[in-house]
Order: sequence, then C-alpha cells, then structure tokens
Amino acid sequence: MRHSASHVMAEAVLSIFPEAKFAIGPAIEDGFYYDFELPRPLTPEDLPVIEQKMREIIKADLPFSHREITKDEAKKLFADQPYKLELIDEITDDKVGIYQQGDFIDLCRGPHVNSTGEIKAFKLTSIAGAYWRGDEHNTMLQRIYGVAFGSQDELDQYLAKIEEAKRRDHRKLGRELDLFLIPEEIGGGLVIYTPKGGRIRTVIEDFWRQEHFANGYEILYTPHIGLSKLWDISGHLDFYKENMYSPITIDEQEYYLKPMNCPFHMLAYKSRTRSYRELPLRWAELGTVYRYERSGVLSGLMRVRGFTQDDAHIICTPEQMDPEVTEVLRFSLYMLHTFGFDKFKVYLATRPADAVGEVKRWEDAQKALRRVIEENNLAYEVDEGGGAFYGPKIDIKIEDALGREWQATTIQFDFNEPERFDMLYVGADGKEHRPYMIHRALLGSWERFFGLLIEHYAGAFPTWLAPVQVKIIPVADRHLEYAKRILDEMKGRGIRAEVDDRSERMNLKIRQAQMEKVPYMIVAGDKEVEGNTVAVRRRNGEQLPPQPLADFIEVLIKEISSRQ
Ligand SMILES: [Zn+2]
Ligand SMILES: [Zn+2]
Repeated sequence: MRHSASHVMAEAVLSIFPEAKFAIGPAIEDGFYYDFELPRPLTPEDLPVIEQKMREIIKADLPFSHREITKDEAKKLFADQPYKLELIDEITDDKVGIYQQGDFIDLCRGPHVNSTGEIKAFKLTSIAGAYWRGDEHNTMLQRIYGVAFGSQDELDQYLAKIEEAKRRDHRKLGRELDLFLIPEEIGGGLVIYTPKGGRIRTVIEDFWRQEHFANGYEILYTPHIGLSKLWDISGHLDFYKENMYSPITIDEQEYYLKPMNCPFHMLAYKSRTRSYRELPLRWAELGTVYRYERSGVLSGLMRVRGFTQDDAHIICTPEQMDPEVTEVLRFSLYMLHTFGFDKFKVYLATRPADAVGEVKRWEDAQKALRRVIEENNLAYEVDEGGGAFYGPKIDIKIEDALGREWQATTIQFDFNEPERFDMLYVGADGKEHRPYMIHRALLGSWERFFGLLIEHYAGAFPTWLAPVQVKIIPVADRHLEYAKRILDEMKGRGIRAEVDDRSERMNLKIRQAQMEKVPYMIVAGDKEVEGNTVAVRRRNGEQLPPQPLADFIEVLIKEISSRQ
C-alpha cells in the first residue's frame, strides 16, 4: 500500500510537472518516497496541491495492472526518462516488469495493491534533496516523503507522535534553552556546550566521578593524540583506520587523534609488573575521542565526530570475571535509573567465525553476560555470531518517550588487546597469566546521552540537573533587596538561583522563567518581605503555600540530594 502510494504520488507530480523525470520510489518504514528531477525547487506549499491530485487518483479507484515487456519495448516506453533508462540497462533479464494505473506507467517489480482506492490514509510530510543513487557526484534530485496507513486513526496517531518528537527534538530545545552549539565554522559534528549545557554536563560528571570512586574505580587522564606506533600495536591501524583522521606530523613522526582510549590504559597497565593482588583494576576515563562519520549521517548530538565517552577498562583474573560482570551491569542500571530511564532492551552478541582468543574464554564470558541479563530480568535478544572478532558484548539500549531505542551501555570483552599489548599479571602460583579485559561505557557518549536527556525530559530537567533551579522574581524594585537576600542564602547552600531584576512586568518574568523550564519560581512582594516568607510556583503553574524561606531551602536541598 505504501509503495502503491508512491506510484500515485509520481502520477500526481507528473500531471503537475509534465516534464518531470522520475527516479525511484520505494516504500519505507511508515511510508514512502519518490525522487524527481523537476523544473523548479518544490516548496512546502506544493505538497497540498500534490496531495489533492493524489486524492483524485485514489478516489477514481484505478486498478494497478502488471505486465512484462522486453527491454527494447521498455526503452521505448521510457525514452524520455533517463533514470528509468539507466535502471533498465542494469536489469539482467530480457523481460522487465511494469505497473500501470490509469495512464501512468512505472518500471516496477511490484507487488502492489489491487487498485488506488485501497490507499486509505496518507500525508506528504517533507521535501529533501537526494543525490541520484546517493552519490554526491550525481544530479541532486528532489525527494518527496509521505506516510500512509490503513486507517485515518492510525495516521492521526502517527502524526501526533511526530509532533511530540518535534516538540522534544534536542536540536530545537538546545537552541531555545541555549544548551549547546554545533557551529559550521568548527565543522560538522563538533560540539560547544554553552554555559547552561556546560552546567548540566558538570553536574552529570560530578555525579559520575563520585559514583565511580564509590564503586572502586580509579580515574585516568590520557592525551588526545598518540604515535602511529601505538595504533600499530593496538591494531587500530589495521582494523579501524577508516574511522580515524589523517595523521598529524610532528618532528617527522606521525600522530593520530585517538578514536578510543584503550591503548593508553593498556600502557598504564604495562608500566610495571602487576600482581594478582592488585586485581581487579577498574580504570575509568571521560575520554574525548574523534571518529570519522560521513557528513550525511551527522545528526545533532546523536551522531557527532568528536565525543566524550564515559569509558572504563576492567582488568581482572578469570575468577573475578563473573562477579565483575554482575557488578558492572548493576552499576549501569543504577546510573540509567538515576537519569529517569527505566525501559531497556539488551542485545547480546556472541562469537563470530573469525574470532580471536581461546574458545573456553569466549564461552565463559558469554555465559556470564547471559546470566547477568537473566538475573536482572531484562528483555534481550541474542545476535548469534554477531560479536566483534575480539570478544562478546552486551549493548543496552534505552527506550525513549517515543518508543525509539538508543544505545547507551556497552559491556565488551576483549581477548585481542591483552595479547597485542602482552598484558600479564603474576598469579598466586608465581607464574605469569593473561588477565581478562572488559571495555565498558555506561552512559555511552556524553553528547548522545545529553541529546537523549533533553528529549526524555523535553527540556524540563529534574531539579538536580536543571542549569537554573530557582528564578527569583521581585514584584517591584523595592523588593529587589529581599530578592537578593534570598539569592545569597540559596547560593550559600549550593542552589543554582538567579534574580530576574529587569524592570519588566511580573507576569512576563514568570512566563519567561516557565519557557526556560526553570523548576521553581519565587515571587517576592510586600507580604513576603514582611513575613520573611516565599511564594513558590512550580514550572507547571502549581502554586505552593507561602512558607518561611528556610523551610523551602530545606525542601529543595532534599530534592536535589535525592536526585529528583
Ligand atoms: Zn511499484
Ligand atoms: Zn576500551
């Protein structure tokens, strides 16, 4: 039905622009698109006109008929359609399939619905540029996207979901709430955190460090670049080079920007002989890495070229591997819960054919991963043989408010790096042994996680994360002194408060604080000054009873320290 809708759209476009050249029009998730070469750029105003034409075609209930013709016949039929001719040339059969509705004929394998009347509910949603065959050396075509459903109800539900996604879009909220920038002048996928975004990141990082120390981790700091020799040892120049940027030459030696932090941690491990008594080692780093992503896939904070991972490496004995896996999953779920995520899907990827490392170690590691997933009653899928060549892993994806899944935690065994770096420890038997190594990131990348958080809360961060927690609004200038006293007391207790001292109307200030999604507003007028009280409003408009300032501060401190 969705693909049939694309044929109907092509017919409609052709009736409006008889000189249109049409390329391909497949069905996609929830809908369809078609690419056209048109005499002028389309505007959003064109879409209702095309929709109207489509409705006429659907109302006429034209049957879709299928025929097979020879390639020569097809070439004649599509003589003025260069994209179709290119496609026909690539067909290896003698015969090609065509579908016809009314006077419109398209080169197509089908299948299709019986007639245009079976297309029940559709809407054209957007226009985009698309290179013919996705190749930037080819002509830029105009792509029209549409959605189609079996009923108006389903279409309405879908459109409501899209509206909600737009409302929560982190790129839009990032601008409105002034959280981050991705300026063209720096280059795609490179992010600046502006003060409010920087404040949120600091709160997250402080919490992250505190929890890591509490959970037996130590924190490492490592450089952004390393000699090519390092990346040779680690193997990145063999199997990861296409994701790395060109080297920088310093003193005739080549340095690469790091795509991962691991090799630095391995060197730190190797800096001296390690005893089993030191293990497990849990070494974490908020390491900023750079990876090549095609410019076409860059998307806000979700796909970037420079990002900070909440990385760690766990290095342990075979006996410690099982409890370490249990612990790291518990830690991960605790972190995700703290940020308000409670729906997860876990993916377990197991041993591929080209694996390195002992089979026994693979099996033990896989068993441990499967066991912790099951003990935590998490829904999971197994990707048999889908693991990296160096070890099995679990990925935890967070389900967001719109039911979309996003990668957060990765717990990845590595049987390759310990070999490459010849990592050893001296066991209780006095002999040298190879440790287990686990790479793990709990929240994933700061950038993607921040994007997710923005969308999850639709910008209305809980008080502990909010960049500004309280906005103090004096009713008139004579209340400014009292407002500043409140500010000082709050700041003294570590609460992030601001006074709106502009000479604007109170209602306007309240509205603005609401738009900034500040959790609490304190309105200070005559009554409050007199009684040393505060009138508090939540950002949803709820009015709290007047209360002594000291009481409200205590409530707030409790809320923040319990990470609400
Ligand atoms: Zn078709
Ligand atoms: Zn690593």
